[in-house]
Amino acid sequence: MTITSLAVDVRQDSLFIGGSWRPAADGGRMDVVDPATGEVVASVASATVADVDAAVAAAQQARHGWAALSGRERGRILLRAAALMTERSEELAQAESLDVGKPITLARLVDVPGAIGEFEYYGTLAGHHDGAARRTGAPTFAFTRREPRGVVAAISPFNFPLILAASKIAPALAAGNAVVHKPAPQTPLSALLLADILAEAGVPDGVVNVIPGAGPELGDALVRHPGIDMVAFTGSTTVGRVVAATAGEHLKPVMVELGGNGANIVFADADLEKVVGTIVNSFVYNTGQFCMAGTRLLVERPVYDTLIDALAAAVAAVPVGRPADEGTAVGPLVSAAQRDRVAGMVEDAVAAGGRVVVGGARIDLDGGFYYAPTIIADLPNTAAAVQEEVFGPVLTVQAFDTEAEALELANSTAYGLAAGVQTSDISRAHRVSDALEAGIVWVNTWTALDPSMPFGGVKASGWGREDGPDALDGYTRTKSVTIGLD
Ligand code: NAD
Repeated sequence: MTITSLAVDVRQDSLFIGGSWRPAADGGRMDVVDPATGEVVASVASATVADVDAAVAAAQQARHGWAALSGRERGRILLRAAALMTERSEELAQAESLDVGKPITLARLVDVPGAIGEFEYYGTLAGHHDGAARRTGAPTFAFTRREPRGVVAAISPFNFPLILAASKIAPALAAGNAVVHKPAPQTPLSALLLADILAEAGVPDGVVNVIPGAGPELGDALVRHPGIDMVAFTGSTTVGRVVAATAGEHLKPVMVELGGNGANIVFADADLEKVVGTIVNSFVYNTGQFCMAGTRLLVERPVYDTLIDALAAAVAAVPVGRPADEGTAVGPLVSAAQRDRVAGMVEDAVAAGGRVVVGGARIDLDGGFYYAPTIIADLPNTAAAVQEEVFGPVLTVQAFDTEAEALELANSTAYGLAAGVQTSDISRAHRVSDALEAGIVWVNTWTALDPSMPFGGVKASGWGREDGPDALDGYTRTKSVTIGLD
């Protein structure tokens, strides 16, 4: 695909503010790099603080008209957006694949349908999210109203640009808010296409604004802007702490979806044949740049060696290659910096006593940012590769002897986003799910997601929930109205 086939002219005017495309206030631009080759494939306008002011002003102006529509009317527009995304799904998939280095098959099967699902789900729910009448005991008519928060700053990371834009924009709009979206600097393309689609679907001018830009200053200016009423942030725990602190200083509601380091506990009674596929998918999916990746495998000792052998064979057979090839399951990492970070963490793991079972090396292909899917066994629990988020296709494996020990290891990191338990004992599945400190638990599966299922973490993985009806609660505030009747 060539960039000129994108409907949006990304070479010139790529800030979407108040319903029209414009250059950055200072004319600044930033490069878009293809992770599969390291080559610059496009450049987009790079927003400045002045552009933040313009985008927030446009959103403030548009928000009341949007909020005044009925939920059903807003829902109809979101459903139209879903239909247009379906029509333009190949274009969206190509942009996502080029931008992130995501295998095209994954973009077609997961990212684009996942993003469409967000608009379908919230398009349908938009007319059903309401307050309730309350019986107070006094002679009153009392009821609650769910009101939009106003203008939402949506800040998203590089790894699932389209889905994570959709999982903020769709519920925020359904609830009657206006949005200023700042995509990650590495991956702005699908956000621009989405802006184009939303405008065509009938989202009024100024209700959705998109301002790609580089550097922390832009995001920071957005978070602290007095015209921003709520912040919805997805990204690293390091930046999330800063965003939450700034939002706290200004007393703004904030939702932070942050890093993860998922523990997957495999008991000896699990269906080991099935489990091998589940484990491999859980850590190589999206080249491991997946906040919910199952990166810490905990295996009951009697099956430890057998499972490692089976995993080594399965991982060696995973097709790693060019994202444009339909048979590719694992592509490059998003940037040279991300690939080098992963390589450094694997080196540290080996120095800490880890045994590389498979992988453990860069892959030289077309100048892209490739790293082989890697399994490291026998690491101490204190090793950085166990305790920290690697954000690459790397799995650590540790043995345990008792259920209590498995839980202690699983809950021993700062994170708490996703966790899993693989067992054929249903009582144990419940017991362990209850005890896992995580926002999402998968039993005998991994990566199963749906827009109806709330999504988010505990501990250093953040707070707030995307998806499900819960997200609509987050994007609204409750007003209590009591009418005296005496
Ligand atoms: P990042 O934290 O570096 O950047 C995220 C976004 O924040 C980007 O748009 C960036 O430009 C912006 N930003 C940077 N500094 C800022 C500041 N001071 N104020 C406001 N915004 C600022 O994250 P990344 O490297 O793009 O993404 C990877 C991280 O995201 C991983 O840690 C991953 O686990 C996490 N993630 C979490 C979830 C989840 O739902 N929990 C989902 C996907 C990714």
